[in-house]
Amino acid sequence: MDLGLQDKRALVCGASAGLGLACARALAKEGAHVWIAARRESLLKERAIELSALGAASVTWCVADLSEPKGVESVLAQQSEFDIVVTNAGGPRQGDFRQFTRDDWLTALDTNMFTPIELVKRVLDGMMERGFGRIVNITSSGVKQAVQGLDLSNGVRAGLTGFMAGLARQSVSRGVTINNLLPGTFETDRLASNFLAQSARTGVDAATLLAQRLAVHPAKRLGQPEELGAVCAFLCSQYAGYINGQNILMDGGSYLGA
Ligand code: NAD
Repeated sequence: MDLGLQDKRALVCGASAGLGLACARALAKEGAHVWIAARRESLLKERAIELSALGAASVTWCVADLSEPKGVESVLAQQSEFDIVVTNAGGPRQGDFRQFTRDDWLTALDTNMFTPIELVKRVLDGMMERGFGRIVNITSSGVKQAVQGLDLSNGVRAGLTGFMAGLARQSVSRGVTINNLLPGTFETDRLASNFLAQSARTGVDAATLLAQRLAVHPAKRLGQPEELGAVCAFLCSQYAGYINGQNILMDGGSYLGA
């Protein structure tokens, strides 16, 4: 299937590892021009070589901390017109809301709500004028079903989800779709660090915690980042113009609602 992504200009945030990298790989394989943004320069350089080898029309990397406005400016200084934007960054740290300060909430809001909104604000009108755009926000299954121990994430992602739901209905008639991808438990560094944090809290070792989680998981396995990357590429494709304003859960059926 030709997804029609050849030569599209795609920005993927948080693309040096994990789910963001998987999205960048999937878009590169389709021949898009890919911009990757994250904080670690050495890793970005390595990823750029890999993405070029996969078939990207071009790869540009940008060192940017997307928890602050400066990071957004660095990305947009390189390129301000995109056909595709995948918003993504590290998730908020684990913990009970009683331990968090206002600054903790503001950091989480900056990273997982304000930065995606600012990026969209800066690219959306151009996309609408050109008649094509795809925005995919990587959020969390916690949007559908709160995840215990991720109070910051449960809170701030709700704000982004509500905002994007309204915006998606304003852009689609001009060819711009906005959707959110909601990962359940994917095998990434983030997941490993969540298990380690849980282990520190509970005293149960991380491998046991993972085995316990999988024992009650309908799929009995973790999601693989490339599975999410492929869905992201499809959402960005020429065939996905009528999928809009959706929260697409990828959790192997863990959420029990119909
Ligand atoms: P990860 O930690 O494996 O990778 C995150 C990527 O974002 C890395 O490239 C990292 O360098 C980059 N990044 C982190 N903070 C950044 C910042 N401030 N500025 C720029 N780049 C930054 O995480 P992941 O598992 O790929 O998760 C991606 C997103 O999906 C997170 O928000 C996470 O909370 C969410 N999520 C993941 C899972 C899962 O199972 N992996 C489940 C639910 C939600």
